[in-house]
Amino acid sequence: MADTNFAERLGNAMAACGLKQVDLIRLASEQGVKLGKSQLSQYLSGKTAPRRDMLAFLSTALGADLEPASAAKQEVPMRTFDKSSKLDHVSYDVRGPVVDAAMRMEENGVHILKLNIGNPAPYGFRTPDEVVQDMASQLTETEGYSDSRGLFSARKAIMQYDPLKGITNVSMNDIYTGNGVSELINLIMQAMIDTGDEILVPSPDYPLWTACVTLAGGKAVHYLCDEQADWLPDLDDIRSKISSATKAIVVINPNNPTGALYPKAVLEEIVEVARAHQLIILADEIYDRLVMDGEEHVSIAHLAPDLFCITLNGLSKSHMIAGWRIGWMSISGNKRLGRGLVEGISMMSNMRLCSNVPAQSIVQTALGGYQSVKNYVVPQGRVCRQRDFVYERLREIDGVHVAKPKAAFYIFPRLDPKKFNIHDDDQFALDLLQDKKVLIVPGKGFNWETPGYFRIVYLPRRAVLGDALDKLADFLTYYRQ
Ligand code: PLP
Repeated sequence: MADTNFAERLGNAMAACGLKQVDLIRLASEQGVKLGKSQLSQYLSGKTAPRRDMLAFLSTALGADLEPASAAKQEVPMRTFDKSSKLDHVSYDVRGPVVDAAMRMEENGVHILKLNIGNPAPYGFRTPDEVVQDMASQLTETEGYSDSRGLFSARKAIMQYDPLKGITNVSMNDIYTGNGVSELINLIMQAMIDTGDEILVPSPDYPLWTACVTLAGGKAVHYLCDEQADWLPDLDDIRSKISSATKAIVVINPNNPTGALYPKAVLEEIVEVARAHQLIILADEIYDRLVMDGEEHVSIAHLAPDLFCITLNGLSKSHMIAGWRIGWMSISGNKRLGRGLVEGISMMSNMRLCSNVPAQSIVQTALGGYQSVKNYVVPQGRVCRQRDFVYERLREIDGVHVAKPKAAFYIFPRLDPKKFNIHDDDQFALDLLQDKKVLIVPGKGFNWETPGYFRIVYLPRRAVLGDALDKLADFLTYYRQ
């Protein structure tokens, strides 16, 4: 781009010295500097600016500081890149600042006891052999894209699984596989939400739901789950949060982070509210096979055949293959209500081409074969024993209150506010990390406003859990905020 400021400065400097163009050209030639007439004219008209060596000559010849001031003025500030403003109000602190601090400590060689992430494999929960072999034998056949909804075999298996949960009226075209339920939560929200739409989301929640609602331009309106009622949803609170902008209700059952399992009667009440206000039901049931104490999981979609329902499930937890990234959603109920929405979901599905095909190829085996997860949740099973152990140990700690989880592999204790006076959850988690090298997720990370709560993942082996709980117990003998 032409430098008009420079042209002005050059003209002024020449005038001040009483030099004409020819004089300057002669001076240049005398000093062995190549300066042509048209070149100088171009500088003076602002069409071009001189290079550094010519600039230095002109500055010296005219006794004017043509260079430094202009260089400083022209210096363009370094362009930096920030995250998009769309993310300004989005938070996902399950992998947030406390985890960052833990990673830094690990980089410095500190061993951290991690009770923070629901990722079964690193804790010795292995994918069933049959499933691994199945994936291996199909690898060469799964190199290409699949149908954007998913492989026939995968969707067929899901279509057969749904009726076992009483979800009927699901056809092959109502099923979409995803790179984990995570991808589908985001996909649904992008397809469904207009700016300002309100979505009822539980508090505490698995925070991806709130994050995806917000990212899509919607408003996550949190309804309370009641600790005093074993963390069941508070129906009155749900009712009080409904407005004319409410479009859907998210039900996470079994629940992360509380481990609650919702009885049929509570689900029926939620359906009643959804029916009265014509809401979409979004059911996250990824822990539906990790249920203990002989209880049975009830799918909410089974109770709402007349409403538009989307049920999400996957293999990350029940089949311990979180890393292969396979989840799915089934659309059921009164599908006519959501024709337009389904169009949006299909568009979003097509736009990501398809989900990971090798992972889809094992859905049939995983769902149809022997369910090894059952061994984990019986009274002598590993998940159940670890749950009992953690629950009992927490109860023994003075000032810790805890509801016994019935499902999944999380527990969500509360610290007595009078005793510990916790007002900053993150600080509590950071202090515990610093002092005891134990990593938990603060309650705030689950959109739970009251401070003093945190989540423990009880997947690590009992010895590790015991060690971590000893440290926590000791920490709580002296820690106060
Ligand atoms: N939904 C809930 C309630 C979860 O707890 C998780 C993961 O922890 C997910 C969804 C995401 O699962 P996926 O691995 O299928 O993406």
